Amino acid sequence: MSNIPELFGSLVFNDKVMRERLPKDTYKALKKTIADGASLEPTVANVVANAMKDWAIEKGATHYTHWFQPMTGVTAEKHDSFITPCDGGIIMNFSGKELIKGEPDASSFPSGGIRATFEARGYTAWDPSSFAFIKDGALCIPTAFMSYTGAVLDKKTPLLRSMNVLSKQAARIVTLFGTPCDKVNTTVGAEQEYFLVDRELYYKRKDLIYTGRTLFGARPPKGQELEDHYFGSLRPRVLAFMDDLDRELWKLGILAKTRHNEVAPAQHELAPIFSSVNVATDHNQLTMEVMRKVAEKHNLICLLHEKPFAGVNGSGKHNNWAMSTASGENLLDPGKNPAENTRFLLFLAAIIKAVDLHQDLLRLSVATAGNDHRLGANEAPPAILSMYLGDELTGILEAMAAGVPVSKKQRDRFTTGVDAIPTFMADTTDRNRTSPFAFTGNKFEFRMLGSSVNLACPNVMINTSVADVLKEFADTLEKSKDVEADAKKLIVETYNAHKRIVFNGNNYSDEWTAEAARRGLLNLKTTPDALSYYDRKENVAMFERHKIYTKAEIKARQEILLENYCKVIGIEAMAMSQIVSKQILPAAIQYTDVLLQSAAHKAAAGLQAIAENELAARITELTNSAYATLARLNANAVAAKDVSDVLAAARNYHDAVFLTMQELRVSCDELETVVAREYWPFPTYGDLMYY
Ligand code: ADP
Ligand code: MG
Repeated sequence: MSNIPELFGSLVFNDKVMRERLPKDTYKALKKTIADGASLEPTVANVVANAMKDWAIEKGATHYTHWFQPMTGVTAEKHDSFITPCDGGIIMNFSGKELIKGEPDASSFPSGGIRATFEARGYTAWDPSSFAFIKDGALCIPTAFMSYTGAVLDKKTPLLRSMNVLSKQAARIVTLFGTPCDKVNTTVGAEQEYFLVDRELYYKRKDLIYTGRTLFGARPPKGQELEDHYFGSLRPRVLAFMDDLDRELWKLGILAKTRHNEVAPAQHELAPIFSSVNVATDHNQLTMEVMRKVAEKHNLICLLHEKPFAGVNGSGKHNNWAMSTASGENLLDPGKNPAENTRFLLFLAAIIKAVDLHQDLLRLSVATAGNDHRLGANEAPPAILSMYLGDELTGILEAMAAGVPVSKKQRDRFTTGVDAIPTFMADTTDRNRTSPFAFTGNKFEFRMLGSSVNLACPNVMINTSVADVLKEFADTLEKSKDVEADAKKLIVETYNAHKRIVFNGNNYSDEWTAEAARRGLLNLKTTPDALSYYDRKENVAMFERHKIYTKAEIKARQEILLENYCKVIGIEAMAMSQIVSKQILPAAIQYTDVLLQSAAHKAAAGLQAIAENELAARITELTNSAYATLARLNANAVAAKDVSDVLAAARNYHDAVFLTMQELRVSCDELETVVAREYWPFPTYGDLMYY
């Protein structure tokens, strides 16, 4: 199909299809459910299910599945066929009950002890605000996943809850400023970075296969120094992949918009047009899956790990976040004159306070073993949370705080000098690429997310923290006789109390690390450090206040994430150990032997063998050192399994296992530089990045 508008959404049971295929009453009832979250009558559900099935079968589907996002971080599906026995044959059947509720065997999904304590089974429930779609021959129903007692077991449920909480509190504020409002939508657009490598080369690297990243690899002569890859023209093979990818995403109704090369060789990015955060989350999960599949079709492998290669940029996922009213008005749009836009400044103040009070939650929402390689390394935002507002907004807040009139910053008028190109206004904010949480004109861009992370958790943190402050503001202002004046007071008070979180300078500088410490900002460098803050008293109180998580659910999540960290490091250590003992050491030893034989031959012929002897000596030194470190790594990895407290275990995995892996890598990478190419057991960085 080459007609893109026709192709777009062709695998989605979207509004257009619903209108065409559902009786009017059913359509109306379903729309009401989607808009207000009202529950669906069983009779209505039956009609919807039947229409969905007929549509899906026409599109070639034979199965259906509830499609959900358990705490494993990937999406889960279990296909059931539509077949139902009837009169000795079969008919294709799908009931309203099957649409609305599923009962997957939940026992193998991580629950952090929740199911053991409460209830063994789990169920999935349709989220009708995210459309059903067809993938791999199955009608996929986006669902939330919870235990029978209602304890959340997934990433979607808390996200939906946090959207509602933010909607309610933000609507109160909008109403206070004179426009009656009952619903505010959270919008997110996520820019997705990824690497592509040749499939054949990939399968020669056990580290990539087992861990998604290279555990070894000396730097190639050329990395990203020349900055010639960023926005560079796309190679035909990559372009063919991207074309195919866009089409597959469009079929699924995903608004894939921008594609370009990223900073590192073999690194690329895809950005969609923003949507409601729950849809953005589903679509991002699908995007990652489709990327992997389409890559294989092109004999490529898509790497979504945060740090596939040392020495060049890692991959992130920028979370562009804003709020808008039902009529589409963006509440974070400062308008022409931000200084007089009190409602905007109040929302801004709320976000400043929320980020300052819950730095820990934002940080830990992106904490994974993979992302630890990015945060704090000198390419990505550091592990310290701070906000970039830009000169104009900071100037306005400073002037208000000082009680002086706000000087209107002249917005420079840019002219390109070319008649055909229209003039445009300069953004009120300049670009700051180093800030972890940057205001970018009419939205905040949270940049700490790793490339593989599910969008739900970071957005639960932002939504809930902001809603919590908005609630406080609304409680105060609803009692006020002069909302405008009291809001201004609140903005000043809030800014004065929380402006330590605002930083417009270079986040990558050492001065900032020192300054941030002086300001008392958190600097949580590792995943265990970050996760240890999850159950902080104030965090628990906030989540319970808004019924997002109970304390037990927070503890469960903390445990699941810490356990995951331990497992990832454990797997990496095991993979490393095997690669060193089965591939690297044998190669080095074999090559040493070749050198020594040559040296012996030369000696017999009365020739000097300086190169052979010196190389053999150096390789032997490195081999012995690698061997000793390997023994230490193995011992530490075994001992790490015995630490029972999960936080202590995670800390130990970092200190005793991960740091030893780093050490082992150093001697192995140097070995790569001195062992002859034909003896080296797997493709090098150069092979992988310049295929
Ligand atoms: P930039 O050039 O600053 O990266 P873009 O306009 O290219 O900005 O947008 C980057 C991402 O931000 C895109 O995914 C875009 O859809 C998203 N975005 C734009 N406006 C909003 C908004 N109001 N809410 C959420 N995301 C948005
Ligand atoms: Mg960006």
